[in-house]
Amino acid sequence: MTLKNDLVLHPDGRRRRLLGMGGLALGLGLLPPGISARDRLPVVATFSILGDMVREVGGERISLTTIVGPNMDTHQFEPTPQDAKALLEAKVLVLNGLDFEPWISRLVQASEFKGRQVLAADGITVRRPAASAKGGHAGHGDAHDHAHGHGSGHGHAHEGVDPHAWHDLANGMIYVRNIAAGLSKADPRNASYYESRAASYISRMKTLDHEIRTAMAAIPAERRRVISSHDSFGYFGAAYGIEFIPLTGLSSEAEPSARDLARIIETTRAAQVSGIFIENMGSPALAQQVARETGVLMGGTLYSDSLSPPDQPAATYLGMLSWNAGRLVYVLKQSAGQGS
Ligand SMILES: [Zn+2]
Repeated sequence: MTLKNDLVLHPDGRRRRLLGMGGLALGLGLLPPGISARDRLPVVATFSILGDMVREVGGERISLTTIVGPNMDTHQFEPTPQDAKALLEAKVLVLNGLDFEPWISRLVQASEFKGRQVLAADGITVRRPAASAKGGHAGHGDAHDHAHGHGSGHGHAHEGVDPHAWHDLANGMIYVRNIAAGLSKADPRNASYYESRAASYISRMKTLDHEIRTAMAAIPAERRRVISSHDSFGYFGAAYGIEFIPLTGLSSEAEPSARDLARIIETTRAAQVSGIFIENMGSPALAQQVARETGVLMGGTLYSDSLSPPDQPAATYLGMLSWNAGRLVYVLKQSAGQGS
């Protein structure tokens, strides 16, 4: 088994083997003599995507609790007393920041957590879709400010900063470096273990990043335009050259009015998109209706804000990116074949 084989995008968007299960040549040994399960560093991660990254870096030297699980919505989450208990017992809290977890500061206060907070998105270039719809990259280094938000619960509107930075693998590498540095500071004894696992993980991320770029570059630029239900793929689009048109109505849980629906259908036709995608947390009914009315291909499910459960293809961070890219490439190629 080589790493290379793990990294092949299958034409239907599946991977031959899920990433995250192979590789790991570096550092994944047995616990050294003297380290029992009780000695593992207790770590809490706020949501499933971050949890997978922390697991990759922390390996067997940490005991990990992930607060918001697969297919659950972190934006709208309500913490439980159990979450507060896990946090109280933790030495490290890993969070995204950028106001993605509007409930976290309340939970930190309620639990009297005294450990180290690791802001995964610290140091990325923040997108501000509302302020600069054209350019993206408007700000830098604001990640820290937004982590200490005030629980304003902006739902899926995402005014201001776009928190979904993990969809660009270059940002994912920054996340992993921040996580490795945070674990190492909290648990210096195992620093070289965390650093070597992070290095191995980052090299797999680089390979996948290159693979996605190569696959996208083979598709004519004018075909690389799709509809997605909520505005969470801005970083992916900027990194890999796809335009995502988020239709607010597509993600809202309420039924759209007839006028909203007409507007959505008109927008879809006018944009000459190659496909309509839904996200793993939303309802597909409206997207399917728009696809029927416009004749645009239904592209299937993309994973945006959470991983899939373990038996599905997006159960890991790299598996999720690979699945999303594979689905997009498959649908954009089909659409190019139709020559619409
Ligand atoms: Zn979101």
